[in-house]
Amino acid sequence: MKEFEIRPQKLFDEFLEISKRDVERFFSKHELFLEVSCPACQSARTHLAFEKQTFSYRTCKECLTLFVSPRPTEDMIASYYKNSASSKFWAERFFPETAEARRQEIFYPRAVLVNELVKRFKVPYPISLADAGAGFGIFLEEAKKTGTFSEIFAIEPSADLANCCRNKGFQVIEKSIEDIKENELQVSVVCSFEVLEHLFDPEKFIISMKRILKPGGLMILTTLTVSGLDLQVLWNNSKSISPPHHINFLSVEGLKILITRCGLEEIEISTPGKLDIDIICNAMKEMPDLKVPRFIEYIAKNRGSETFEQLQVFLQNNKLSSHARVVARK
Ligand SMILES: [Zn+2]
Repeated sequence: MKEFEIRPQKLFDEFLEISKRDVERFFSKHELFLEVSCPACQSARTHLAFEKQTFSYRTCKECLTLFVSPRPTEDMIASYYKNSASSKFWAERFFPETAEARRQEIFYPRAVLVNELVKRFKVPYPISLADAGAGFGIFLEEAKKTGTFSEIFAIEPSADLANCCRNKGFQVIEKSIEDIKENELQVSVVCSFEVLEHLFDPEKFIISMKRILKPGGLMILTTLTVSGLDLQVLWNNSKSISPPHHINFLSVEGLKILITRCGLEEIEISTPGKLDIDIICNAMKEMPDLKVPRFIEYIAKNRGSETFEQLQVFLQNNKLSSHARVVARK
């Protein structure tokens, strides 16, 4: 998989431009922003890492998680996702144009993985599945094809996306997972892909995932992690560090602390990301004046795909890619 297959440069840059204008419109009232401690380990010992589009990104001195503080309130964030031009652009232009590439490269392998995990950890039949932040329902379509799941639920607060899932025949709970009560839904497996980095309160989200799980059930989530090479190298120049969307980049160590604090049993925290080197090389081409560590510059300019592939495998094996996966049990 290559970065531009799932994130075509021109389209993604257009999205980031619209987002910048949205930041002025939706997040100008900084006096309403709230200071938070580290979303992973709760430490208040932090230092300013950098500012980007008026948002302050801070690094936790304990677990090295990178996060925005002070941050917009939950209501401001919710209003942004509901009413902003960039959300509309993502839903109507960006996602549809990349949907099939994403189905092949991301959603199909995810469904295969979830299917494999429920078998490996012997989740008892019948196995029900919920996806928190189901979006267009493509993961659930692929999950359905495995034939493993007796019942499938899309948890999706956005009315348009909820309708999209409904039209695909899924049972839809049209609200945020945080608003679902324990007696409303109980499932064997709850997934959430690329949601945690967007949230005001990651801990509340994970506790909400746990609440709808049956005892022994699996929680599977993916998120961006600051432990990854492309984020460490590109830092404030990374396109992934884009306010207001991405405000939490938990370190691998921070993810572990958070999962444990939420009362879940960690089964696996890994970084199976495939794109770190590709993203760094693309950024260097796009920004010729970009300063990167000399070692990285040497590899990017003088070595070829074989070295890149081996380095990416090293990152995966050592929890050093920026795409993290957490598997935990209730
Ligand atoms: Zn921390």
